[in-house]
Amino acid sequence: MKRIAIIGGGISGLSAAFALEQHRRAGTSLEYVLFESGPRLGGVLLTEHVDGCVVEAGPDSFLTEKPWAADLCRQLGLADQMIGSNDAERKTYILRKGRLVTIPDGLMFLVPTKILPVVFSRLFSLRTKLRMAREWFHSPRPAEADESVASLVTRHYGDEMVDRLADPMLSGIYGGEASQLSVRAVLPRFAEMETQHGSLGRAMLAARHRSGRAAPGPAKPLFTSLFDGMQQLVDALIAHLPASSLRLNTAVKTVQPQDHGWLVAAGSKAERFDAMVVAASSSVAAALLQTANAELASELHSIKYTSSVTVALGYGQDVRSALPPGFGFLVPRSEGKRMLASTFVHNKFPHRAPPDRALLRCFLGGAREERILQLSDDGIVRIVREELRQILGLTAEPHFARVYRWKAAMAQYNVGHLERLARIEHLRRQWPGLSLAGNAYRGIGVPDCVRSGKEAADQALAAVGLAQSNPQLIASQDA
Ligand SMILES: Cc1cc2nc3c(=O)[nH]c(=O)nc-3n(C[C@H](O)[C@H](O)[C@H](O)COP(=O)(O)OP(=O)(O)OC[C@H]3O[C@@H](n4cnc5c(N)ncnc54)[C@H](O)[C@@H]3O)c2cc1C
Repeated sequence: MKRIAIIGGGISGLSAAFALEQHRRAGTSLEYVLFESGPRLGGVLLTEHVDGCVVEAGPDSFLTEKPWAADLCRQLGLADQMIGSNDAERKTYILRKGRLVTIPDGLMFLVPTKILPVVFSRLFSLRTKLRMAREWFHSPRPAEADESVASLVTRHYGDEMVDRLADPMLSGIYGGEASQLSVRAVLPRFAEMETQHGSLGRAMLAARHRSGRAAPGPAKPLFTSLFDGMQQLVDALIAHLPASSLRLNTAVKTVQPQDHGWLVAAGSKAERFDAMVVAASSSVAAALLQTANAELASELHSIKYTSSVTVALGYGQDVRSALPPGFGFLVPRSEGKRMLASTFVHNKFPHRAPPDRALLRCFLGGAREERILQLSDDGIVRIVREELRQILGLTAEPHFARVYRWKAAMAQYNVGHLERLARIEHLRRQWPGLSLAGNAYRGIGVPDCVRSGKEAADQALAAVGLAQSNPQLIASQDA
């Protein structure tokens, strides 16, 4: 019987385990063990119920456009638990000179596609609005070497667009900086659009026109989640996996190539496996693989991470009535605040707070301030409350406050990331029984992590000669 080790019990490792479990149940002669260093599974996916509110400590949803997480939910029998974001309330603000300004309608990510809302917006200066008009006439540009998101966005719309939109948005998604993140890894469509069309505005409209014709009907919600929170996905995965395959509180300490397989030392013993999926961070993968292949370890090590702190605050009806409508706000670096963003959860996913409650989720840390992790919970809550007072005039005492710290949880796809991945892949292929999964490689969001886990499991199966053993598997999974 072939044995596969999975290192890391976040959504990537759990997705790999689920894929292997599907094969095992379909009759493949296979055994797998998932090692998780912590006392619980799910990694940064964690939901708590506090005072009638569904409080997400990590991700609160995933992009509907990317199918892999939703597919997994359906396979797990969670189809009737999936919910969409309340897009009728979708309005996001940017803090500008201490006041909240709505992101104008028709701005698709960063690209203006409607004229009037942008012309009348207080978010941009006249200089930037004129650049937006000129951008319409940009000619196609031959593909060149990778560059930062800030560099591409500045070329099209100027530095104000970087400061007021690109940087705060990327801070929210990656905990990173527009001046460091790779446009090819983070916004590959932008690089393609520039090569083909020149103007991002014209390219975006052409793409919208094509997709409107291809998929007529009501628009899908931007975000999908689960009724009772993202923890439901973790719980459903655990319920589908045999307890004997899951080892909690068992950090993998070393791995060593042995007899066309791997000797994995975890807890008090070392076991041989035919293949292994490393689904922990690339820094952990680097440390584990240092002895086996120093060059691979060095490439993995050069993928940097930032940390994130989320703060959930629950309030009563008075605050709910006084807060502005919409999903929340982003804070540009130039505003000099420590908070990166805040979500009005009761608007984005209304049932997650009772009708007489307001639930705010605030984000800190990222590339802007790693030191925030060193503060006490009380210290962090004090900072958040003071900034909410300044921004929203919110002085009420919260009914509850929760602080969650995610150290080195957000991989940074800095300039040159795709080239680095190509080198990593080249080196990895020299070790057929080694697969890598997780948010360090080809997508930081939950759907991409799910996909990476499944692909890594498929690679591991192929490496041990079991890839084609169950051609019916896809069909039976969908059923
Ligand atoms: C605050 C926050 C908000 C986010 N919001 C969203 C969102 O709204 N939507 C979205 O799509 N994405 C979001 N993301 C991103 C997404 O949630 C993560 O990228 C993804 O969940 C990472 O999953 P993972 O399994 O790769 O890593 P992790 O969740 O970090 O799991 C890795 C696991 O490996 C374990 N491990 C480490 N070392 C070892 C070892 N030596 N042996 C055994 N186990 C080990 C760790 O304990 C951990 O459990 C967010 C992330 C954060 C931090």
